[in-house]
Amino acid sequence: MEVRVRYAPSPTGLQHIGGVRTALYNYFFARSQHGKFILRIEDTDRERYSDESLQDLYDTLEWLGITWDEGPNIGGPYGPYIQSERLELYQRYARQLVEEGKAYYCYCTPERLEKLRQEQAASKSQYQGYDRHCEHLSEEERQKAIEAGIKPVIRLKVPTEGKTTFHDILMGDITRKNKDVSPDPVLLKSDGYPTYHLANVIDDHLMGITHIMRAQEWIPSGPLHILLYEAFGWQPPVYCHLPMVCGKDGQKLSKRHGDTAVRDFRKKGYLPEAILNYVTLVGWSLDGSREFFSRQELEKCFVLENIHVSSGTFDYKKLDWFNGQYIRQKSDEEIVSLILPYLQEAGFISKEVSDEERKTLMLLAPPLKERMKILSDAVPLSAFLFKDEPVTDKAQYIAKGMDEEKTREAFRKGSEIILANAEAGKPFSQSEDEIKAYAESAGIKVNGVFQPVRVALTNSTVSLPLHDTVALLGVQESRRRIERAMRLFDQE
Ligand code: GLU
Ligand code: ZN
Repeated sequence: MEVRVRYAPSPTGLQHIGGVRTALYNYFFARSQHGKFILRIEDTDRERYSDESLQDLYDTLEWLGITWDEGPNIGGPYGPYIQSERLELYQRYARQLVEEGKAYYCYCTPERLEKLRQEQAASKSQYQGYDRHCEHLSEEERQKAIEAGIKPVIRLKVPTEGKTTFHDILMGDITRKNKDVSPDPVLLKSDGYPTYHLANVIDDHLMGITHIMRAQEWIPSGPLHILLYEAFGWQPPVYCHLPMVCGKDGQKLSKRHGDTAVRDFRKKGYLPEAILNYVTLVGWSLDGSREFFSRQELEKCFVLENIHVSSGTFDYKKLDWFNGQYIRQKSDEEIVSLILPYLQEAGFISKEVSDEERKTLMLLAPPLKERMKILSDAVPLSAFLFKDEPVTDKAQYIAKGMDEEKTREAFRKGSEIILANAEAGKPFSQSEDEIKAYAESAGIKVNGVFQPVRVALTNSTVSLPLHDTVALLGVQESRRRIERAMRLFDQE
């Protein structure tokens, strides 16, 4: 049997880490089994729908290199793949259930339902939810409602006795008493739109979905879905509910922890390779130790059996580390084109890149590559080259364990060494050796020497290696900045 899986997002918000992980697992599983990966847009919640979310979905999958075999834009044998284009179908199936006595029309007004809800809340009644008022309406009552112009909804008859069980390959059997399943949920709304449950079950069946991999938060819907499959006389697919993605505190990953929308990671300069690799590892592993996987590798080796049963931890620091690793694998040319938009946005590089600017970018690429965790780090790390805002707070030049007096001396000596060697065209290691020897004789740490030089040259305490800094600024400009900072130390 061919594996057919789907990612079925609702375009009601930006694609977040958890959603994308679901997409990746479905995609990799389909590829590794030589099956089909289907994209289906569940856009029946018209109030929360947004075009921006739908566009974000397409952009995110494209950015990650995830393609679908059937779905929007490309179609397929079971289309359309956008639920709002399938309304007639849901209406037909809902009517069929009514005809078979498995569902019924309900004419209750929102006012009546609201009153019912309030009464139930006030009486602290055990029984919550719809009271099945319309299950046995007389013909006369029905006519009255129709004449009053009330558009009915269709509700499923949920059995009040017995239990429903579904099997999940990670969680085992999950059983609910039918009386605990929501009493007679709406399948078709009065505007002719299906609810999530109806559309989801019909589509999974008609599209021949064999495995459902989705977030664990859908487990409570499981029994209802099984009841729907039974009502239709269909065979349910295999379920695999995915453990939650949590922050380091064990709580479900949310904005409280940091960014969650993939678009925001992308804007900051995370690479798709890093996101794809790391997000896959949050809840899955091949052998418990291997960490690096390309998309192509995962397309071969992803198996369901290795999905973890317990929730996965999304560690922002670990993602940074992965991203840094992937940045270092890029060629200088690649780095230049990756950082260019950030430097243009910062106003460091013009829109039409000149030859001079391109040369500078190529010189910047190697040291940046070593220091960046995310591409946007290129802006603060290279700012010293493009704008000169000297640090006037003396304290910033003074390293830990140093004082002003010692710093003045170390700064003078250190810059003398560096500038002289740079002027003579000697390698920077020469300066390092001499500075080390000097620091030793003066009984100070080398950073006591390097820090004032660094702040003088880069106007910051965090910077690219000094070696590259001097090379990028040139000796003349380096001298100018050093002399300027030195004057700060001459003033009392
Ligand atoms: N549209 C649902 C969602 O947004 C799909 C859930 C499912 O996969 O069944 O998550
Ligand atoms: Zn009713």
